Amino acid sequence: MRIEVVRGDVTQQPVDAVVTAANQALKGGGGVDAAVHRAAGPELVRASRALAPCPTGQAVVTPAFDLAPVRWVVHAVGPRYRGRPQDADLLASAYTAALACADGVGARSVAFPAISTGVYGYPDEEAARVSVAALRGASTDVERVLLVAFGDRQERLWHAALG
Ligand code: ADP
Repeated sequence: MRIEVVRGDVTQQPVDAVVTAANQALKGGGGVDAAVHRAAGPELVRASRALAPCPTGQAVVTPAFDLAPVRWVVHAVGPRYRGRPQDADLLASAYTAALACADGVGARSVAFPAISTGVYGYPDEEAARVSVAALRGASTDVERVLLVAFGDRQERLWHAALG
């Protein structure tokens, strides 16, 4: 699996599946989740709510509706950062669960935002390291992962984590 860093908006990537940073209720939120729901249209929230609740560290997959040609949206629930040891495990689990969801529907390319690093308050540098380690450790048929950096700083952090 190739991991690349791109600068931009996760809804604008030419991939099979887009990951969003969802909440447990899967009812749409702020930040990247708002952008994904806006782009996918109102059917997305109906489809995702039907699968709620989704525990922290897990993910579910729905069609991408108006986000076509993207085919799938993977709704991954990262942890709210509290500075506990299990936060890193839960964040890693959100990435690997999202990758497994994408794999399960046959996606070969997947775009990820920096899960938990916005409203959920996860320190971005540690989150970059955790996300890269989790993805590198996963066994999957996904061939290409795009880490979508919403700003300069995120782009640098992901490049640094990739080494
Ligand atoms: P969380 O609640 O998991 O912290 P947020 O949506 O608040 O999720 O933030 C997660 C990350 O997504 C932040 O780094 C934020 O800058 C980034 N982000 C926000 N909008 C987009 C977008 N359209 N594409 C990619 N990343 C985005």
